[in-house]
Amino acid sequence: MSIKGLVAIITGASSGIGAGTAIFFAELDAKVVLVGRNKENLTTVASKCYAANKDVNLLTIVADVTNDSAIKKIIDDTINKFGQIDILVNNAGVISKGSIENTSMEQYDYVMNTNIRSIYNLTMQAVPHLIKTKGTIVNVSSVNGMRPFCGVLAYCVSKTAVDQFTRCLALELAPKGVRVNSVNPGVIETEIHKRGGMNEEEYQKFLKHSQTTHALGRAGTVEEIARTIHFLASSDSSYITGANVPVDGGRH
Ligand code: NDP
Repeated sequence: MSIKGLVAIITGASSGIGAGTAIFFAELDAKVVLVGRNKENLTTVASKCYAANKDVNLLTIVADVTNDSAIKKIIDDTINKFGQIDILVNNAGVISKGSIENTSMEQYDYVMNTNIRSIYNLTMQAVPHLIKTKGTIVNVSSVNGMRPFCGVLAYCVSKTAVDQFTRCLALELAPKGVRVNSVNPGVIETEIHKRGGMNEEEYQKFLKHSQTTHALGRAGTVEEIARTIHFLASSDSSYITGANVPVDGGRH
């Protein structure tokens, strides 16, 4: 089913999964709102969206989703430009390496503020608009929300919170016509792992290890996640809500 003409906010659209989703949505002629902190990267992604569809209607918003006034600006700017919100993709996220013995509260707050507080905040402000359009919400969680991974404790906790938020909110919003689901990726080759503190050697080891822990024997691609986000955002998934959908190559 088409998302042509629908207004989609995508956070963390400046790289990785968010960028891939923005480009795919642009190709399908949605009206795409690209949100991220890095202006230069957002501009690059916007160019790729235009390359995919020269007539696409885009809005680029430089915003830090952990900042309350930036969240209000995302909603206000979207409504001012497009008048409605049909799809919210809560994708922005961070990893911070650390166990209970070596995670500071600053690290914990950074991860929780980015990965769950911002989702709660942006969703809260988008919901009145999503009720009007009977829209959809897709939260980008992680396979680590469903099963533990050693060495990124705060990250795992934050993603389990995203999964529960998804399930609870789906119950609240179903009577109002809004569906809420999460996509839970396995290992995908993006910048997040190095940004989270892995050095090159650790990253290569991690990718190699993922070949044995993912039944399909490889890491996933951004495009594979983008396609699932599209499915959950479109009416193709009209009877699915409150689902945490693993896209993890059979992680075991
Ligand atoms: P990237 O690091 O490539 O992308 C993360 C995005 O989040 C960037 O666009 C970044 O933009 C944005 N972001 C981070 N913090 C903020 C902030 N405070 N305000 C606004 N934007 C922010 O990683 P991925 O594409 O891999 O990550 C996307 C999502 O996928 C995350 O939620 C992640 O947890 C999840 N995921 C990823 C997996 C993987 O293996 N790659 C596996 C499972 C889940 P900018 O720097 O411009 O602010």
